[in-house]
Amino acid sequence: MTQDRKPNSSFGINTQLVRAGYDPFDYHGFINPPPVRASTVLFPTAEIMETHAQKYTYGTRGTPTTNALCDAIDELEGAAGTILVPSGLAAVTIAFLAYLSPGDHALVVDSVYGPTRHFCETMLSRFGVEVEFYDPMIGAGIETLFRPNTKLVHTEAPGSNTFEMQDIPAIVAVAHRYDAVVSMDNTWATPLYFRPLDFGVDVSIQGVTKYPAGHSDILMGTVSANARHWPRLKETNGSLGICGAPDDAYQVLRGLRTMGVRLERHQQSALAIAKWLESREDVAQVLHPALPSFPGHYLWKRDFKGASGIFSFVLRVERKEDYKRKAQAFLNALTLFGLGYSWGGFPSLALHVSLFDRKVTPPPTGGPVLRLQIGLEDVGDLIGDLERGLRAAGEA
Ligand SMILES: *Cc1c(COP(=O)(O)O)cnc(C)c1O
Repeated sequence: MTQDRKPNSSFGINTQLVRAGYDPFDYHGFINPPPVRASTVLFPTAEIMETHAQKYTYGTRGTPTTNALCDAIDELEGAAGTILVPSGLAAVTIAFLAYLSPGDHALVVDSVYGPTRHFCETMLSRFGVEVEFYDPMIGAGIETLFRPNTKLVHTEAPGSNTFEMQDIPAIVAVAHRYDAVVSMDNTWATPLYFRPLDFGVDVSIQGVTKYPAGHSDILMGTVSANARHWPRLKETNGSLGICGAPDDAYQVLRGLRTMGVRLERHQQSALAIAKWLESREDVAQVLHPALPSFPGHYLWKRDFKGASGIFSFVLRVERKEDYKRKAQAFLNALTLFGLGYSWGGFPSLALHVSLFDRKVTPPPTGGPVLRLQIGLEDVGDLIGDLERGLRAAGEA
């Protein structure tokens, strides 16, 4: 067991997940790493302190526990380096702060995670960065939006709440011709189902709050970069002093060990429920990239290895003034689906999606958009619950 601990992508993904980031014989054979909490790290001599010639120097710069998670994420992402931050949102904002300066122009996908848009429209614009939102389906056409000062293209696929796919290789090819950094929020797929860096993306971002943590109790984000862009990311992280806590890192690493089997189950159940919804008269549309009826399905099929457990559907409602009442009747009738934000944990969740902030992509028509996170419950029970919700919406 002590041999062969090096990252080895010839192993299957579940084998990698079980082994990544930590060798039990680094710590007396215990299967999990110790949660090492620290501010101060001692140096044995003044000379070593002067030159920082030891692996750990201060708590903000990492401990063996946070390092174990960073190493595991590096292996899964195929990255040169990874930083940990206290939330998925902080992972996006720190990446933007690393690669953007006053006077720069950034292209951000219109189906971006809502709080990312908020950051762009408030702090980034206050710091003199001009952000332009683009159509997720733009592909190579993004070239028409480039300016001499375009420094960053931010992608997210599938998009938040509406799940639009993006042609990542086409966007990367254009961006690199203009020497712009390409970042991707890959929280939905995780590196198990899509590896951004393999497709030319420079910086891969994950809200590991979601599937890696997996139990609705931890907040953490990771940012992983390729060799060219790693030094700037590491420097920014050090400058800002924003770091992930060792206890949280411990829990995320623990979650990673079972993420493969959990994701398979989320995938299967979500797809079964998406197909069931698609067959119903009272559902206008199902927004799930793995359904052949979905507009960006060919991109998902071409580039992704799987689908996770979150998608949306459009409840069929004729009149706009009925949208909210019907959506709320649906949600209030659910007993197994909780009403709450975030996803990737074991329980199922539902919410009414708000799309008022979209700039270039019109929201789906035909009724209110409802988002479902399919948890680890039995599919038959979840379908029973959704039937109850749909009946209530029909009667409302
Ligand atoms: C949830 C989410 C985040 C943020 O994660 P938090 O840890 O909740 O801040 C970022 N991006 C996407 C796409 C998300 O869904």
